[in-house]
Formats: sequence, C-alpha cells, structure tokens
Amino acid sequence: MKTPKILIIAGSDPSGGAGIQTDIKTATNNKTYAAAVISCLTVQNTQKVSDVFYPPISFLKEQIISVLEDIDFDVIKIGMLGKSEIIDLVFGVLEEKSKNKKIVLDPVMVATSGDILLEKTAIEKMKEVMKKSFLITPNIDEAEILADMKISDQNDIKKAALKLSENGAKNIFIKAGHLKSEKVTNILLDENKKFYIIENDRLNFNDIHGTGCALASAISCNLAQEKSLYDAVNLANKYIFENIKNNISVGKGSAILKHFD
Ligand code: PLP
Repeated sequence: MKTPKILIIAGSDPSGGAGIQTDIKTATNNKTYAAAVISCLTVQNTQKVSDVFYPPISFLKEQIISVLEDIDFDVIKIGMLGKSEIIDLVFGVLEEKSKNKKIVLDPVMVATSGDILLEKTAIEKMKEVMKKSFLITPNIDEAEILADMKISDQNDIKKAALKLSENGAKNIFIKAGHLKSEKVTNILLDENKKFYIIENDRLNFNDIHGTGCALASAISCNLAQEKSLYDAVNLANKYIFENIKNNISVGKGSAILKHFD
C-alpha cells in the first residue's frame, strides 16, 4: 500500500505539547508520513506563550516550495500562522504550487493559556482563507470570531456552522469542548449541508494543551488514507478522546497528550 503523506505547516511549541511537535507525534501514531514547515517559533512552556518569532517570509516560501516540488502530499494540514503576511504567503504558495490538494485548516487564534496566537488584524484574512480549505476545525471561541456570533448552546453551534458555510467554508467541524455541557457535542457540517453529530462523554480534566492541533493532524492522516470525511473526523475524534484519558503532566502547567501507552 502506498504510504500516506501529509505536509504540516504550523508553529513550534518547544515544550512539545502543541504545534508541530504534537502534530508529528500524531501523524506517526496514525501511520502517516509527516513533513513539516515551521511557520513560526514560540517561546512557550506548559504554562504560557511568552513570545513569537517569525522566520523571514522569503525563507518560509523557499521551504514550502522546496518540499512541494519534491514530495507528492495527500493532504496539507495548517496550524498556527500568527499574522496576515504568513497567511498570505502560505495560501499564495499553495494556490500556485499545490492547487486542488486537500487543506485542513485549524484556525488557531488563542492558546488554552489565553495567550493570543493570531494577531487581531489577521482575522479578516483567516475568514478569506477558510474558503480555500477543504475542512476547517474551529473551537467554540474561533467559531464565534469567524462567524461573528455568540455561541451558547448546540443550536448556536449549528447556526454558526451554517453561517460559515454560507460565507464560503466547505466542510466545517466545530469542536464543542469549550462549551459548558454534560456531553461534548461536536458538529460536522459537510459541503452538502448535511449535519453529523460527533459526541463524547465529558472527561473531567482541566485544560489539556495541544488537543486542537492533534485533532486536525489526525483528521489529515485519515483523509490521506482516503477515508471519507465523516470517518476521518470520527476516528480522529476517538483518537483524541482516548489520548485525553491518557494525558500526562510533564510540567507545572497544562497537561498534554502523551500519544503512547
Ligand atoms: N502553540 C502552538 C505553536 C500552536 O499551534 C497551538 C495551537 O494550535 C498552541 C500553542 C495552543 O495550543 P492549546 O490551545 O492547545 O494550548
């Protein structure tokens, strides 16, 4: 069987819990080859994000072109981009060099710690590029910002998904973990406007770091393995759920996903 291959374009979390570090662990565990272009470096530990460094745009561009010209990826997973110039560059290069490849976009905006991971001025850009992606995976806070509405219950999640679809997003998976409810009722809306409910029991752990990054990566791996959209999202959700149960505290702040038994 051919090896499924994804390209991850995301930020680095040097403490290993989120960003490109958890993305690669997720891909390996999901039997998928991962290449990685690092969109930015954060100064971060399990407690906080204290700085972000962006590589020169031209250098980032060279890296993306270099791997795209060499490797035929099945799916491109995009995580933290941080600011408008990086969003423009990444989507510009992908449009030119990798047209029609499936893009899974995690519209990363705020960390579990509350630190800002997307400059405010880049929000409008994010609304544009969600239309160029095969799937977007916002959490509740990101869905509120992208859909310009408050989300208080499951009905609102559906309304926000429909609004994002009307605004041009193709497939939308809204993660409901941040909503206070007995169960975590995540919603997938596909491009035929069909809703799927992907529900989990709520696990009583505080602030596990990196789950959003890992989820979008696991979905990307499943899509690279030619699974259907529903199966890709549902299996990835199960992977994260099992890994949340198996979380570890490696530092003084948020727990993280261990990715092994
Ligand atoms: N750091 C990087 C580089 C990320 O890409 C992300 C999330 O996507 C985070 C931190 C935040 O992760 P979390 O919200 O799970 O803390």
